[in-house]
Amino acid sequence: MRKIALLGSTGSIGTSTLDVVTAHPDRLEVAALAAGRNRDLLLAQCERFRPRLVSIAGPGDAQWLAGQLSYRPDILHGMDGLRACALEAGADTVLAAVVGAAGLASAEAALRAGLRVCVANKESLVVGGALMRQALEEGGGELLPVDSEHAALHQLLAGHAPGDVREVRITASGGPFRDWAPGAVQAATIEQALNHPTWKMGPKITIDSATLMNKGLEVIEAAFLFGLGADRISVTIHPQSQVHAMVGFHDGTYQLQVCANDMKLPIQYALLYPDRLPGPVRPYDWDAARTWTFEPPDLAKFPCLALAYQALAAGGTAPAILNAANEEAVAAFLDGRIGFWTIQACCGAILSAIPAEQAHTLDQVMDTDRRSRLAARTWIAHHTRQGNP
Ligand code: MG
Repeated sequence: MRKIALLGSTGSIGTSTLDVVTAHPDRLEVAALAAGRNRDLLLAQCERFRPRLVSIAGPGDAQWLAGQLSYRPDILHGMDGLRACALEAGADTVLAAVVGAAGLASAEAALRAGLRVCVANKESLVVGGALMRQALEEGGGELLPVDSEHAALHQLLAGHAPGDVREVRITASGGPFRDWAPGAVQAATIEQALNHPTWKMGPKITIDSATLMNKGLEVIEAAFLFGLGADRISVTIHPQSQVHAMVGFHDGTYQLQVCANDMKLPIQYALLYPDRLPGPVRPYDWDAARTWTFEPPDLAKFPCLALAYQALAAGGTAPAILNAANEEAVAAFLDGRIGFWTIQACCGAILSAIPAEQAHTLDQVMDTDRRSRLAARTWIAHHTRQGNP
């Protein structure tokens, strides 16, 4: 029986994870649940899965939960609560799905403690990829990707010597603006950017999918997960989101991974690895007529993707700087403070303004994260639109 600490239980990855747990009652159980602000949903999840440890972001919400629950788990809050859920609930598996850089410390600690860490939080790998790899090597844990493209790569690369692989390719749906004229993309509204054609996700990642920053972050994520340089990771636009990744070998052939675009598949793969069992998603229907298309990304229309390659090539803390600027810019866009095109401008400006350094400790990375956010907020305050977009 695998005992799971689910960090980020009320988001879309969290609720899909609980669907997978429900489908495998003899294999999976919940040891701890941690959430941010959605206390009503966390309460309902606790009553259903009865974890022994529960954590929520705010102390007031923790107190509220204690008064509502029909049983008596340990109830904690904040960053300490996240860490305790990972390490102190008797879990052997941590599903790290906290949004943003906040998830890094708990994921790193879990790897260091030798646990299986299923990473749905790509920011933790983008910000602290080198530290995560070091924790993996020193702690002897397991690192399994939950991102659909990376779960696909994990499957495709299994059994192949690294020397046989010429390149890997991850696919991108292209987001809602794939067919739009560049001028129209620049003036896109919040509603238009949130209207993703193939995946239903939280607001931050949906905006990242519209700018293609999500794909850029995934290129960086793949570099750390699989030990590949930027020159061996490519992106192909595939609007149907059925092929999730491809591996190209030196002889010129490719292998592709195909499945429905449902996050329950990569979640189950990571939780049950290496076992393959029937789960909550139906097998791919090859008897339905379909058309798949593939095209290269337009880097002029989606400069965030180019910025991610630039940050990966610069190395050290450059990906952390880019990620911090992007998180601040996306939050400002979702608040209506800046326009869509200003997101990429902010990311480019902060990446150029703050020099990248080698990253040796978690404190150093978190300090870079703080400084970059501050710089991004200052930049955004100077570029906030006044009245007219
Ligand atoms: Mg993905």
